[in-house]
Amino acid sequence: MPKSTKQNGTVYLVGGGPGDLGLVTLRAKECIENADVIVYDHLANPELLRWARDDAEIIYAGKEPGESRTQQEINTLLIDKAREGKQVVRLKGGDPFVFGRGAEEAEAIAEAGIPFEIVPGITSATAGPAYAGIPMTHRKHNSHVTFFTGHEDPAKQGNAVDYAALAKLGGTQVMLMGVERLGAITNEMLKQGVRADLPVALVRSATTGQQETLTGTLSDIAQKAVASDFKAPAVAVFGEVVALRHNLNWYEKRPLLGKRILVTRIRKQASVLSNKLRALGAHVIELPTIRIEPPSDLREFAELVQDAHVYDWIVFTSANGVEAFFDIFFKLYYDAREIGAVRIAAIGPATAQRVKDFHLHVDLQPDEFVAEAVVKEFEKQGSIENLRILLVRAEKTRDTLPKELSALGAIVDKAFAYRTVPETRDTSGARRQLAQDGADLITFTSSSTVENFLALGLPWPKGMRIASIGPITSKTARDHGLTVDVEARRHDIDGLAQAIREFFEKS
Ligand code: SAH
Repeated sequence: MPKSTKQNGTVYLVGGGPGDLGLVTLRAKECIENADVIVYDHLANPELLRWARDDAEIIYAGKEPGESRTQQEINTLLIDKAREGKQVVRLKGGDPFVFGRGAEEAEAIAEAGIPFEIVPGITSATAGPAYAGIPMTHRKHNSHVTFFTGHEDPAKQGNAVDYAALAKLGGTQVMLMGVERLGAITNEMLKQGVRADLPVALVRSATTGQQETLTGTLSDIAQKAVASDFKAPAVAVFGEVVALRHNLNWYEKRPLLGKRILVTRIRKQASVLSNKLRALGAHVIELPTIRIEPPSDLREFAELVQDAHVYDWIVFTSANGVEAFFDIFFKLYYDAREIGAVRIAAIGPATAQRVKDFHLHVDLQPDEFVAEAVVKEFEKQGSIENLRILLVRAEKTRDTLPKELSALGAIVDKAFAYRTVPETRDTSGARRQLAQDGADLITFTSSSTVENFLALGLPWPKGMRIASIGPITSKTARDHGLTVDVEARRHDIDGLAQAIREFFEKS
């Protein structure tokens, strides 16, 4: 058989951090962006997958009971994909070499002669205590830290954790896995002579909007965990430093902690609102309802872009239009001056900002996307009779702007820059999450987010409230039979986040 000439790809064992998207390394993000194949664990935050290429193959490796692939199957998968010449990212929660079998995967890959790279991540073992306000070390209290696994039953023969040694060692001890075995583990520690009133904390879903911390002592923590149905994944911290949380608890004081909020804007635009809500402690579920695609006739659009300099005005009606326009423009021209003496109008502050990002002046900026308002602004500039206007917009929009401008004597050409299509994929598992766990609130930032969300026909989670950015959006929601619970007083993203915060603080 002829030998394959295909070069092996590389396997990147990537630490995805403990949950908070801000705690992901730049290298991890870069690896995800470049990957042909991503094999991810259930502890890796699925929102990381938003950085994946659209054509990347995304494989869930499970590890939850019932849906897990065996370790052997995962190893084989990684090796096979790399042998096909693919760049493979093995995405794991926390740090790939802190428990969780990353080491075994690396060995199998090395054994198969596949090139690999390890991308360390922030482990839950350190991030969990930090986000619970527990410093792992403090000069007054301890001078060493131990990480151990609670995976095995301490009573079992051949158990790898030496509890007698741990008891003698003292210091801060952090346990991963094994919340379900906490009773047996704390009993064993007590038996080995650790004092019964040693402070202990359990931190679950650390660094996410669902973080919860339970504190107690070595003698009562297991019982407390059972009583409050405290579930995995959690890290347990044993040591004097746990008491410092009393003063240092910071993250769990955020006003929206534990609130599940749905953000429905398209991916690229969602992050500003999502980040604001996350900073307030919310658990944000980004559920894009539409996706931007190139226009049906890209050639025609490109020709209009090429001739942009012959117009008197270019009118941009959306940030997406600005991006699509300059994406083509700078493929055609090297010099920004090729745009000529054309003047630029941008409707709405976000659109204007996108134009300014390209270092171009906005000559006219009507605030509202209402044909009359735009026309009025144009009229202020003098007659628009016989002016040539290039209107850059999405396909299939129904507004009356071009008609009104033509009626005033302008010569209007429409340049279809992009089209929006319903988002049918669910790469980050947002729909699954919504169906399983519901949400407390949905945010609408424009009439189209209302319409697009409803068009998906998803079941409305029980008790999900509605926040709207302003009266126009609220009206659309009401026209569709929805009740608006929160309306921003200032009609921008900051105003919306502020209104949501006040709403939950009051309720
Ligand atoms: N490599 C991972 C750990 C894998 S073992 C890391 O470095 O974080 C899985 C265990 O990690 C879980 O049982 C739990 O103890 C812990 N864990 C992972 N993510 C967690 C989180 N967000 N909050 C609390 N514990 C977490």
